[in-house]
Amino acid sequence: MSTTLDATHGTQLRSWVASANVAGCDFPIQNLPFGRFRTAGSREALRIGVAIGDQILDLQAAGLVAHNDMNALMAATPAERQALRQQLSEGLREGNSSQQAAWTQALVPQSRVEMAVPCQIGDYTDFYTSVHHATTVGKQFRPDNPLLPNYKWVPIGYHGRASSIGISGQRIKRPQGQTKAPDAAVPTLGPCKRLDYELELGWFIGQGNAQGVPIAIGQAEQHLFGVALFNDWSARDIQGWEYQPLGPFLSKNFASTLSPWVVTMEALAPFRAAFERDAADPQPLPYLDSADNRSQGAFDITLEVLLQTARMREAGEAPVRLSATNSRRAAYWTPAQLVTHHTVNGCNLQPGDLMGSGTLSGPEVTEAGSLLELAGGGKQPITLPNGEQRSFLEDGDTLILKGWCEREGAVRIGLGEVSGTIVA
Ligand code: CA
Repeated sequence: MSTTLDATHGTQLRSWVASANVAGCDFPIQNLPFGRFRTAGSREALRIGVAIGDQILDLQAAGLVAHNDMNALMAATPAERQALRQQLSEGLREGNSSQQAAWTQALVPQSRVEMAVPCQIGDYTDFYTSVHHATTVGKQFRPDNPLLPNYKWVPIGYHGRASSIGISGQRIKRPQGQTKAPDAAVPTLGPCKRLDYELELGWFIGQGNAQGVPIAIGQAEQHLFGVALFNDWSARDIQGWEYQPLGPFLSKNFASTLSPWVVTMEALAPFRAAFERDAADPQPLPYLDSADNRSQGAFDITLEVLLQTARMREAGEAPVRLSATNSRRAAYWTPAQLVTHHTVNGCNLQPGDLMGSGTLSGPEVTEAGSLLELAGGGKQPITLPNGEQRSFLEDGDTLILKGWCEREGAVRIGLGEVSGTIVA
């Protein structure tokens, strides 16, 4: 596991990139997340960079990589990755004047670039790791049988569509589809009326595994590269009609949106937490259990959902918070357990594959990770400060997810944000 704290996590470290030292900055020198970018409005090939303050260090221009292939970088061993992190940390450190002289020309302001999906995502799996989300949503879809009996034994997931995953800032076209109201005799085709978001984390696979060779829980984190914010847009009315018997299909695959910066497992090391399972619940089967996973398999990531309606934007009003939670409170399974379960049958994972956490709803209603939960399936619309009401997303709504890690004795790091706007 990437649990070791080393010199790169030092709380006293500052960077010669001054904006990285500002309190509350998402990208201080202790973070060093990876992303792909090009000059805004250009057709340049994508380049790999590391966010530092409000700048990006272009890794090839800095002489740190010989290519701009993020998937190749993700395939590196954890030891190779740690060596690169060490090199970045030392080179960007305040006082390293020779590296400052060499690397200043490799810095690009974030304001001048457009970001891309961080890597080539070969395969995408979406899990369902919040028992609170599963129970609340289950009650709406199946009042008599909210949580299916396998939930507490099996990390539930389905294979999603990688090609419709986009990057923050996306405009999401309201999908159309087949829906059937409970009192209607037959379904009809039309625009989705219950469009929703899902607050998720997206875990990226680093090294892959050969087909037929499962990844044991003790090795699982060596196969994880890092994490980004992930919004799994969902058409609830289409979902309700289509999801049985094989699960979500067109209700989910029209678009999902990622934040641009992948925060590495190494950067997350100070923010690990114990994985706790209620004593009244079934304990994980042995292949999903280990002492390390119990003591520090979970992650303490604060998550926040914000909404800005078109009316708010026109009035110059800032986005308002809809809910907030923490990945540790919301997730029933750890990322290591997801990797191990995904491969237990011999399924092969590849560098750049994405595993969505599933909607991360905490135990309280104020911690819900979707409008479906916040507005009681449309029965209890929420009222915004300007008087507008929402049961589901409307055209012109901009939905923003934010995430960060903070605790006593560590420097706060952020995941940045992911936003998307609904259009007709
Ligand atoms: Ca989802």
